[in-house]
Amino acid sequence: MISVEEALEKILSFVEVLDPEEKPILGCLGQVLVEDVYADIDIPPWDNSAMDGYAIKAEDTYGANKLSPRFIPVVGEIAAGSIADKELKPGTAIRIMTGAPLPQGADAVVQFEDTDELTRQSLHPLSQIGILREAKKGLNVRRRGEDIAKGTLVLRKGTILRPAEIGVLASLGHSTASVIRRPIVSVLATGDELIEPGQPKLNGKIYNSNTYTIAAEVLRYGGIPEILGIGRDSVESLNRKIDESLTSDMLITCGGVSLGDYDIVKDVLAKRGQIALWTICMKPGKPSAFGVIRQGRKRLPHLGLPGNPVSAMITFEQFARPAILKMMGKENLAKPTVQAIMDDAVENTDGRRIFARVVLNLIQDTKVGEEYHACLVGPQGSGILTSMAKANGLAIIPENIPGVKPGDKVLVQMLDW
Ligand code: AMP
Ligand code: MG
Repeated sequence: MISVEEALEKILSFVEVLDPEEKPILGCLGQVLVEDVYADIDIPPWDNSAMDGYAIKAEDTYGANKLSPRFIPVVGEIAAGSIADKELKPGTAIRIMTGAPLPQGADAVVQFEDTDELTRQSLHPLSQIGILREAKKGLNVRRRGEDIAKGTLVLRKGTILRPAEIGVLASLGHSTASVIRRPIVSVLATGDELIEPGQPKLNGKIYNSNTYTIAAEVLRYGGIPEILGIGRDSVESLNRKIDESLTSDMLITCGGVSLGDYDIVKDVLAKRGQIALWTICMKPGKPSAFGVIRQGRKRLPHLGLPGNPVSAMITFEQFARPAILKMMGKENLAKPTVQAIMDDAVENTDGRRIFARVVLNLIQDTKVGEEYHACLVGPQGSGILTSMAKANGLAIIPENIPGVKPGDKVLVQMLDW
């Protein structure tokens, strides 16, 4: 039995960062940029108006106030998307819309609210505008290049593209980006007892849930799940399914790795490649296996998760999630954790690291301020999948202590962070 850290290190040593792909920016959400992006334009491309109002020369407004407006003749109008056809002469104003380029000669914009435009009754085109306040140079003007100056490094290689970065790329005029591609992860459930949801229920059979939790986890962390269905507890069936997985980047199987009579996943794997590890000092999840399947020049990392639905999910979190993130070129592989006060006791009888399903709440304490408290969601059996549905965290009880009692501090992995 090896520790969780040793197992993770070993698994990560067998997975590689994948190659880049270029594709439309929206499809790049959550992926890692492979090249520095420099701006080849200024953003905004020209000085422009931050408000709907009147472009003027600031000095023409000096002395203006509500009681004695400065009246200035209006000589034109610029809508967003168009440009001024004339220069602004001193002593004149041009009506301007938000985002429209500031005309030559203007150095400030007085917004409608600071003019008499809104209070006038007249519907006739404005021939002059009453300015109700003094404007300083630069008022309501967005400077050319104030967001991004042409030639600057805007996004660094290695950046994870979030909605904001995708927007920045779009604003620079890029319709595509080069990112590390998403791993294709084959998901295979195994067991003679399994039938697929949607099929009529059958005596002695249970519905396959692992395929769906695991494929959903793969999606959640950025991979592309390829569902291989159910492998039966026979060497032939498993071999056929493994053949189908060879074009993917990783194979995740569920079940068939414990000491039961029909646990043949390990045997098949040992024949087709190499088992790098089996049994990890954790609870649930002990019988997990990892290895590499070889076929010609192909090396397919294979993570054999236990069949119990909770074990499968928790081992996915600890091992498959960081492997997927690494393949996607991400550097921060750690699941966010917080320190919390445990409200329940958890016994550790066999020296494994326990991942207890908890609900974490932020509690206001008059003496110590805000503190996270963790309480068990209920029964912790590795077959009780609803315990994962109720939990928002996994409290980690270290392998080298006999347990925790109420009031003890624990680290909690945040499942949804
Ligand atoms: P195994 O690791 O194959 O011995 O399976 C352990 C337990 O998990 C058994 O009770 C199985 O019926 C259950 N199990 C295995 N695979 C699945 C699955 N895909 N969906 C739901 N339960 C499963
Ligand atoms: Mg089985």
